[in-house]
Amino acid sequence: MATSLAPGNSSARVQFFTIFPCNKIHTCRMQLNPLFRAHRHRNLRMHFDNSYARLPPRFYTRLHPTPVAAPGLIRVNSALARHLRIDPDWLQSAEGVAVIAGNRIPAGADPIATVYAGYQFGGWSPQLGDGRAILLGEVIGADGVRYDIQLKGSGRTPYSRNGDGRAPLGPVLREYIVSEAMAALGIPSSRVLAAVTSGEWVMREGAEPGGVLVRVAQSHIRIGTFQFFASSQDLDAVRLLADHVIQRHYPEVSLADNPYLALLENVIAQQARLIASWQLVGFIHGVMNTDNMLVSGETIDYGPCAFMDAFDPAAVFSSIDHHGRYAYNNQPGIAHWNLAGLAQVLLPLLDRDPDKALALAQDSIDSFPQLYQNAYLQGMRRKLGLAESARDDAMLIQDLLDIMAEQESDFTLTFRCLSELADADRETASGLAGLFELPQAFTPWLSRWRQRLAADSGDSATRRAEMLSVNPACIARNHLVQAAIEAAVIRQDFAPFHDLVDRLAQPYDHHQRDAYYAAPPRPDQLVRQTFCGT
Ligand code: AMP
Ligand code: MG
Repeated sequence: MATSLAPGNSSARVQFFTIFPCNKIHTCRMQLNPLFRAHRHRNLRMHFDNSYARLPPRFYTRLHPTPVAAPGLIRVNSALARHLRIDPDWLQSAEGVAVIAGNRIPAGADPIATVYAGYQFGGWSPQLGDGRAILLGEVIGADGVRYDIQLKGSGRTPYSRNGDGRAPLGPVLREYIVSEAMAALGIPSSRVLAAVTSGEWVMREGAEPGGVLVRVAQSHIRIGTFQFFASSQDLDAVRLLADHVIQRHYPEVSLADNPYLALLENVIAQQARLIASWQLVGFIHGVMNTDNMLVSGETIDYGPCAFMDAFDPAAVFSSIDHHGRYAYNNQPGIAHWNLAGLAQVLLPLLDRDPDKALALAQDSIDSFPQLYQNAYLQGMRRKLGLAESARDDAMLIQDLLDIMAEQESDFTLTFRCLSELADADRETASGLAGLFELPQAFTPWLSRWRQRLAADSGDSATRRAEMLSVNPACIARNHLVQAAIEAAVIRQDFAPFHDLVDRLAQPYDHHQRDAYYAAPPRPDQLVRQTFCGT
């Protein structure tokens, strides 16, 4: 099967029509809110400073979570809690569990459900929002970064539409496992601080146990948040939101000649790096709607996502993605399209002259394919142990991918195996004995790669160590995730879930005893479809 390396040829047009009448363009610089002045209260367990809740009321609805019947602690992410300056022992106490469940509002919280819109599978949804999530507030982490603390599965809100505002346990565990695995791989991602069972049933296909998750992200501001305000021609709100995002995520751009253009460029660059990092580990998001793309550049919305086992550039797992819009190979092109949507709503902020604004936006958007390609090639070179760049690298990579696709070779273990083989003249990948071997079909490519390595700088032992540090041995494979969820949901056995979360925290280590976690699925274990499970 022919594969395409990257969407170097994708294009996305910034729509000409502007949603705003041009005489409303304001060019005044932002007013600095005291965003970074964390309020510290003695005796508080979480030191909230809620900048989003200080935006005007049309950005959210203020409301409390709906309590659940009988919360039961599943897991607290102690390392993340400490990073957020929250005492993990307190979080595991009765009071902490009540907070996680939404049954108790911690001092300093200002709970809100935020409003947004979005293009879902290409179609416009003018009104979405936190339909089953409530933002408790923001805290400043040990790294000085501001983080949202959000409950997911915490009851109905004005944005629930026909939903019940609840989350089944399966998707809660899935998000816990996969988002934490992504973070451990070094990929920007929302995180999970804690999860509880709710002691209530939620109705989906049948009755399922419910759960509540505490999600942490640098913010939950989506491309769709901007689109919501632009669609109602609320330019003041778009500007306020842009100013908020600049201060929160890209403070350096406030010094640029055109801060809003610099904001757009930064979001584009961040997304180019993010999507490249997905491609480099074989991650398929599954629902890349504009409401599921954060302007902070973190991965969010772990619904029907999956890591592929055998390499297939057209891989799709989501049960609702009938036409493969969000297939593996389409992800960069879709990100490009989504970013053009962001550029469109920022147009009135870019320049008073609509033609000039459009030209600036289009230039920015046109930079995406190259930025993506650079990030992807740089990452692939590291995966292949190439310290220097050479003209034919893209071809070498593409040829490898073509053989992998043809051989249905396991994506993760192919690169892991190559890492082992990078050490001088090794013929076998000792660390993977019994798990994986490169088929004969790779032999001619291997000689080309070895020739290329010989011309590269650096010694082979260092190269091997570096490759092993970027090519994971253990990823959140579908069948492992599924087995952990089934054990918990069907047999109330959470041990496989805990073991998997623990193991995936060190994805680049491999020990012989890890076969269960590192091995690809047997044919009878293959999971071909994933569900958003909302
Ligand atoms: P998602 O597909 O997870 O990105 O969700 C799309 C929209 O549906 C968002 O506005 C969610 O808040 C909303 N939603 C999803 N599941 C539920 C639910 N169980 N109850 C209420 N709203 C929901
Ligand atoms: Mg979503």
